[in-house]
Amino acid sequence: MSFPELGLSEDVLRAVAEAGYETPTPIQKQAIPQVLMGRDVLGCAQTGTGKTAGFTLPMIDILSQGHAKARMPRSLILEPTRELAAQVADAFEIYGKHSKLTTALLIGGVSFAEQFQKLDRGADVLIATPGRLLDHCERGKVLMNDVGFLVIDEADRMLDMGFIPDVERIVGMITRKHQTLFFSATMPPEIRRLADRFLKEPKEISVSPPATVAETVEQAMAVIPPRDKRAALRAFLRTQVVKNALLFCNRKRDVGVLHRSLERHGYNAGALHGDLEQWQRMETLDKFKAGDIRLLVCSDVAARGLDIPAVSHVFNFDVPTHAEDYVHRIGRTGRAGRKGHALTLATPEDGKYIASIERLIGYKIPRVDIEDVAGAELGEETRKGRGGGRRKSGERAPAKRNGRKEESRKMDGRKQEGVKKDGPKEERRPKAGGGKKESRRKRDRIGDAPDHGDTPFGKTDQVPAFLKRTSG
Ligand code: AMP
Repeated sequence: MSFPELGLSEDVLRAVAEAGYETPTPIQKQAIPQVLMGRDVLGCAQTGTGKTAGFTLPMIDILSQGHAKARMPRSLILEPTRELAAQVADAFEIYGKHSKLTTALLIGGVSFAEQFQKLDRGADVLIATPGRLLDHCERGKVLMNDVGFLVIDEADRMLDMGFIPDVERIVGMITRKHQTLFFSATMPPEIRRLADRFLKEPKEISVSPPATVAETVEQAMAVIPPRDKRAALRAFLRTQVVKNALLFCNRKRDVGVLHRSLERHGYNAGALHGDLEQWQRMETLDKFKAGDIRLLVCSDVAARGLDIPAVSHVFNFDVPTHAEDYVHRIGRTGRAGRKGHALTLATPEDGKYIASIERLIGYKIPRVDIEDVAGAELGEETRKGRGGGRRKSGERAPAKRNGRKEESRKMDGRKQEGVKKDGPKEERRPKAGGGKKESRRKRDRIGDAPDHGDTPFGKTDQVPAFLKRTSG
């Protein structure tokens, strides 16, 4: 089926052709005709499948008749993160270039005044994160009475981030009969129940089984003691061709730690996490896309759904504690048919998380050794075992080396020397009132408090001890 057969208008088809798309993706083939017919849609699809165009293209046609009144948007798209919301706004600009739709983007970190202005002029399409939208509603700046079209995107992510009560409040404010599209990468029972409440006789579309890893991504995993992770990363960067990379940490504080460490070692690196101002996040992303930043250290919340076509490598500097995140993270490389590489740096304590990732993807991630870095074995850690497991700086990880070859032990010996040489530089913590004030100030600015979605899965007292440490 070709784009002209989907029932889209000439204006939209022209924009699609100018975007360089030749054939619709599976989700577009299935969703667009249904949306144009006015049906509710329940889509099980991840980012990277073309789902954004799957809903924006028909929306542009549906909304082409009529105009929005001041403060009364005619359609609403809810996104879990600012970056995703901004990407959807960009999509409207690209696909709607021959249409006269007005859009407004309501996200945190951007001035209210500018957003008020856009709302006052009337927005046909309102794209928002739930929290910022509720702020505007409470100030009486947005009225939901005219919303006839609702998109809830990345519903499973909304659930992870604790946004569902906000989403329910917002949907409760929509008084008009409306068409609803509901997308989620996975369909756990809670999401399905929510979909049942929000949708009327929806057309169900599932384009790729949840948690499929693109075949274009070559995966590998190295198991190493926690204190050697940064050295291992640098060894990899020294010995392999890495054009550019996203490096994922589980907590935003560790994003800062790794970022500073890479810069200290002379790497061109940037950082992306939820505590940065919106303009800083956008600026950093633009620099990464332009090649001005080569290594971008980021947290899941900041990087979810980022669409950057040519990322050569993804590093899981920390093993994600939520198996789904592994798939999302490594899906940032190997896009659009390109070859991508994903390297996970696991520690012996990550056994249980690796097991759940491998259960989800259905196979074992190939193990590799990193040159000059001693390997370790994954352990079957329990919370109890891990509780007392915080090792002093300088202490080695427990030797769980059954089956490791003598050769590895020799490497271990070599590595000890290497660690000594490198170690003090990285492991030393700033003394109170000491000479590392600046780095401490920076760390404090980044803050310990996780923002929505940056918390490792499991939350607060469930957070395994090894994730609470202050440096990798
Ligand atoms: P999404 O899943 O919406 O994040 O889209 C992923 C990427 O696919 C984006 O870079 C889109 O520009 C691109 N894309 C969307 N639809 C098509 C299409 N029909 N042909 C080629 N690329 C597409």
